[in-house]
Amino acid sequence: MSRGKTFRGGIHPVGHKELSSNKAITVMTPPAEVIVPLQQHIGAPCKPLVEKGDVVSKGQKIGDTEAFISAPIHAPVSGVVKAIESCLHPAGGRVQAVVIENDNEERLDPSITPHGDLEQLDADTIRKIIREAGIVGLGGATFPTHVKVMPPSDKPIDTLIINGCECEPYLTCDHRLMVEHPERVIYGTRALMKALDINRAIIGIELNKPDAITAMQKAAAGYVGIEIVPLQIKYPQGAEKQLITAITGKEVPAGGLPMDIGIVVNNVGTAAAIQTAVQTGMPLIERIVTVSGEGVREPQNLLIRIGTRLDGVLEAAGGLRGTPKQVIMGGPMTGLTQFDLSSPVVKCTSGILVFNNRKRATQPEACIRCGRCVDVCPAYLLPVTIVNYADGGELDAAVEWGLLNCIECGSCSYVCPANRFLVQSIKLAKAEVQAQRSKQTS
Ligand code: SF4
Ligand code: SF4
Repeated sequence: MSRGKTFRGGIHPVGHKELSSNKAITVMTPPAEVIVPLQQHIGAPCKPLVEKGDVVSKGQKIGDTEAFISAPIHAPVSGVVKAIESCLHPAGGRVQAVVIENDNEERLDPSITPHGDLEQLDADTIRKIIREAGIVGLGGATFPTHVKVMPPSDKPIDTLIINGCECEPYLTCDHRLMVEHPERVIYGTRALMKALDINRAIIGIELNKPDAITAMQKAAAGYVGIEIVPLQIKYPQGAEKQLITAITGKEVPAGGLPMDIGIVVNNVGTAAAIQTAVQTGMPLIERIVTVSGEGVREPQNLLIRIGTRLDGVLEAAGGLRGTPKQVIMGGPMTGLTQFDLSSPVVKCTSGILVFNNRKRATQPEACIRCGRCVDVCPAYLLPVTIVNYADGGELDAAVEWGLLNCIECGSCSYVCPANRFLVQSIKLAKAEVQAQRSKQTS
């Protein structure tokens, strides 16, 4: 096999994927109660369509909005609505949620019916199915997928890229999906190609998943226009812009979007969710989650209903081993530290990682001007310069030096020998700039 394509910059953190990469996906028993946030996507939050005391069916739509950039929410179990109240969101803050007491009947909503032969469906019908199924980017971005497949008429699309990189350490949910259900990913890829009215799709997979590459190549055989491209093992290979450059050699312009150069990117999990929505009619009510880290007794990949509490998930993975120092939702590079395990699994929960010995944040020292942060930055930025301006309160200068083009991958902080809080300063400065801009426009 070739060395694989890649992008400039990036780092090689230890993968730790062996903890769960050979563990087949296991279905977790749905919990007695689910907490389903009405905001699990980028865009407008949904309004509840049910009230306390209502009996709901599995797959029933329980939240929606008329906003274009949003995605409806569905009941992951059948049962009774116990409350509509605010809950802790694992991505931070509190949001309104529908709490459902599971009656364990798995009673299906009458709307759940297969949509028939993919070949007979037109682009508009597939876009509607994707929207109504509440499908969002399952790689972590949670951007509503129907919006991605409805680009403006002045942005013609010619290529679909399916992201099977899973470049963050520990995470193996996409790997297992490709090994165990490659045909689902290919079906979803074909559906996306039809929705975009294009005949070219490229599926990028890192070389540390040879079994996934083989399984996907086999499943794609016979489908014209779908190509599997092996990629070098490097973080952040799966970041949208870096993936595009690695595969096509094209650069998304600074401040631009993939659609500006005729490309749409989706994750393998998103493609599989589309297959389920088209072939069975079931909306997005569950996802595969990697539960791993040395603080987990039985690391594994679980198929979990949305709304299941994080502490329930850890229990299903054999419970905790030792004294946890940190629990993260997502990967260790971009994931979010959890301070309360009563929050639920949401559409973007790719992993729940528990660490007992994570390196403590050491005191940052003065920059020694080694340039390592510049060498690894996949966005071609000068992180140290941006941070110097940002920390000095000179936000305009930080923006001029590309603050807003930072993809928050954390590679600069990872390599900095002076332990400087580079990505942390950049995140704070970006939030400050966004807040200032929305104040000016309101
Ligand atoms: S500046 Fe941003 S994009 Fe560049 S390495 Fe740091 S976090 Fe990644
Ligand atoms: S890696 Fe750290 S020490 Fe080296 S130039 Fe960047 S900020 Fe300075």
